[in-house]
Amino acid sequence: MDKDVDNNMVKIIDGKEEAARIREEIRIETEELKREKRIAPGLRVILVGDDPASQAYVRNKEKASAEAGIDGQTLRYPASITENELISVVKKLNSDPVVDGLLVQLPLPKGMNTQKVLDAISYEKDVDGLSPLNMGKLLRGENPLFVACTPKGIMHLILSTGIELKGKEAVVVGRSNIVGKPMALLLLEKHATVTICHSRTKDLGEVCRRADVLVAAVGFPELIKGDMVKDGAIVIDVGTNRVDGKWVGDVEFEPASKRASFITPVPGGVGPMTIAMLLENTLIAAKRRAGII
Ligand code: NDP
Repeated sequence: MDKDVDNNMVKIIDGKEEAARIREEIRIETEELKREKRIAPGLRVILVGDDPASQAYVRNKEKASAEAGIDGQTLRYPASITENELISVVKKLNSDPVVDGLLVQLPLPKGMNTQKVLDAISYEKDVDGLSPLNMGKLLRGENPLFVACTPKGIMHLILSTGIELKGKEAVVVGRSNIVGKPMALLLLEKHATVTICHSRTKDLGEVCRRADVLVAAVGFPELIKGDMVKDGAIVIDVGTNRVDGKWVGDVEFEPASKRASFITPVPGGVGPMTIAMLLENTLIAAKRRAGII
């Protein structure tokens, strides 16, 4: 979709449309898998506690799974569940043959060792791509079974622009395990020259202005100002911040649009791709069970 902002043709990357296209492909492939191999992809989401945002994310995953024909179920536990009990649940699901994908909705309640719980997930069912083996393989440049859904979805969007990444300057703002770090590794794999920024970066504007590809994954509304965007850059806004009842990204959209060649909106950019990639990873896991791949 094209949008004219002050006579400068910036292309808005429509994540919603791209995600819908991918989800339809997944639905068709799931139907085939059921028909030909009698296998229904199974996804289990473990939700602990009653965080309202997590509940909404989980509901979206349930709905998207159902639409794709994936057997997606949420297992809900009270915040009082102990770490060991939770790990036992994970282990039981690891050995359940109808479960292809397994994920623990984050954040876990305070006091729980998130890393320890995630480490218990079998790497073959780790559709969130956060297990040490999948992340380690990504780091070593070996094909992981699963790549974390948000950066994987972002790569789809960046590649959809048709811009060659080889030799380009890429800047990722944010160094979380779930977005920033895997994102930087994926860009590196495509031969971009990658810089990762974080809260201690000295001159964020100066670094961002070098970026041919700028990915903002911070969680601070409009931290990236328009004048921090290089002319012609691809700008990917991962941030989802609630401001006065509205979703606002980490990038100041209008001024950034005047400089960028491509930009993702919030909402409707990265968010829809994350769920599409979760379904895609679950389908990959089910195809492995079927012995197709
Ligand atoms: P985290 O809080 O885990 O990480 C935020 C990162 O931003 C940290 O590395 C932090 O640095 C860095 N940071 C904080 N302040 C600054 C600053 N002033 N300048 C530069 N860097 C800074 O967040 P996530 O990675 O989990 O998520 C980031 C955003 O993306 C959030 O808004 C989240 O809601 C959104 N998100 C959206 C998804 C989607 O599907 N649309 C999926 C996942 C996340 P340091 O390490 O030094 O603390």
